[in-house]
Amino acid sequence: MARVFNFSAGPATLPEAVLQQAAAEMLDWNGSGQSVMEMSHRGKEYMAIHAQAEADLRELMGIPANYKVLFLQGGATLQFSMIPMNLMRGKSGADYVNTGEWAKKAIKEAKPFGQVNVVASAEDANFSYAPAQSGWKLDPNAAYVHYTANETIGGVEFHWVPETGDVPLVCDMSSNILSKSVDVSKYGLIYAGAQKNIGPAGLTIVIVRDDLIGQAQPKPITMLDYKTHADNDSMYNTPPTYSIYIAGLVFQLLKKQGGLVAIEKKNIEKANLLYDFLDNSQFFKNPVKREDRSRMNIPFTLKDESFDEAFLKGAKERNMIQLKGHRSVGGMRASIYNAMPVEGVQALVAYMKEFEAKNG
Ligand code: PMP
Repeated sequence: MARVFNFSAGPATLPEAVLQQAAAEMLDWNGSGQSVMEMSHRGKEYMAIHAQAEADLRELMGIPANYKVLFLQGGATLQFSMIPMNLMRGKSGADYVNTGEWAKKAIKEAKPFGQVNVVASAEDANFSYAPAQSGWKLDPNAAYVHYTANETIGGVEFHWVPETGDVPLVCDMSSNILSKSVDVSKYGLIYAGAQKNIGPAGLTIVIVRDDLIGQAQPKPITMLDYKTHADNDSMYNTPPTYSIYIAGLVFQLLKKQGGLVAIEKKNIEKANLLYDFLDNSQFFKNPVKREDRSRMNIPFTLKDESFDEAFLKGAKERNMIQLKGHRSVGGMRASIYNAMPVEGVQALVAYMKEFEAKNG
């Protein structure tokens, strides 16, 4: 059976080469006579996989030595709480930028831990843009500034990094981490669930500057304290070993493909293919302001809703799945993470052209 083009927002398509390697190593990893899934996390085989995954991620993202890389569980959603719990550090509040569904969730979960100042919001235009920093009302005494680098549902992405001076910048990079090069030193903390651009669900990555660890007041319970995981190389308890192994294979592949600068170039080309078509179509439409359009998640609507079902059915017949938009916004959404080959985007555009010619 041919593999489908899977446009899911996450869990999402993974590189075929990684899946093939994992399949080849499934019963016997590297002559060890066991699957990675079966290995003790304290054994030398798994410890080597774990250390290599961290080293490769550090190399790919250029993570400075004064940052810890934590391999955690609980999803980006648990980070919505762990961040204020650990980073409020006795200060009265934190600044948040409201760009859509995911930012709203982060804001909601921070409220029990201090004053949450929404310093900018794009709600006035249905979350169709990233608010320019000139309009943000930042508090110089805030514990940190939080923003969502890519709104997975709305398809809005920051193509610039906010300047927050001495106030630590905290970023939800769940849906665009590893899609482009970033200057990690501009951030206090970066977090991302793995199931979009990294690997299987079950792993959450946190990259946090040393000085922000161990400052929580009051001290969180053990498992929710970054210090616990930083002090134990993410092995305080059993880590999500198989997810970390697959993530490690993805990191190695990205390195082979030329690193994040090369990946970014490919992602721009892929996104442009679809946006160029959308901009010239009389039938399909993307609602996001041009400069703030996501390269990862591209929502679009058809001329009217009555065409949606036929569009999805035809897509399925052409081996393209998961194009239905998020239930909160309707329409369609094509998620085209790193692992979506350009052929998948070409196939989608060809189908959209055909659909427009027939129904437009
Ligand atoms: N933030 C963003 C931007 C997301 O896209 C998601 C998941 N779609 C989350 C947070 C929540 O992540 P998780 O399901 O891993 O908790």
